[in-house]
Amino acid sequence: DFLAADLAASIRTIADYPKPGILFRDITTLLGDARAFRRAVDELVQPWAGSKVDKVAGIEARGFIIGGAVAHQLSAGFVPIRKKGKLPHQTVRMAYALEYGQDEMEMHVDAVAAGERVILVDDLIATGGTAEGAVKLLRNIGARVEAACFIVDLPDLGGSDKLRAMDVPVRTLLSFA
Ligand code: IMP
Repeated sequence: DFLAADLAASIRTIADYPKPGILFRDITTLLGDARAFRRAVDELVQPWAGSKVDKVAGIEARGFIIGGAVAHQLSAGFVPIRKKGKLPHQTVRMAYALEYGQDEMEMHVDAVAAGERVILVDDLIATGGTAEGAVKLLRNIGARVEAACFIVDLPDLGGSDKLRAMDVPVRTLLSFA
């Protein structure tokens, strides 16, 4: 559609980054385009306009940029989900799958109360390993994960289907096959 094509045109593609054979979708050009950034955030939040969302959880680091704007737009709080060792207070941790091996992500133990409605945000979903870890982390402390939102989907890598299989509604604005 028109919006997806417009947003896709504002994203830069870098070949062989961070490794040979990878086509990296660089959303910094979308963020730097005032109109594209506003439209992307407005479209992402549209299903929840006027409904009660307690927290927006953003995944480090690009999920902080988009998630912060989404939280402001929904008048919700913002919760950072970070790589381990970066948060100062007591945390809860979750292992998640990387392309090779695994890592751990963390959130403050008191960042979300049991029963709160949370929307998860990141820039892009690929294999879904990162988002799956974040959903498990949030559910472990009793959050209700209402949805996961991403500007970009790489559907061939299966991440958005994986989240839907976990009963998480997924919203993405454009796909690269
Ligand atoms: P996944 O865990 O395989 O779904 O990878 C998604 C995570 O890796 C997200 O946090 C993305 O920010 C990052 N990522 C993977 N590929 C790209 C890309 O092409 N552009 C930007 N971020 C990417």
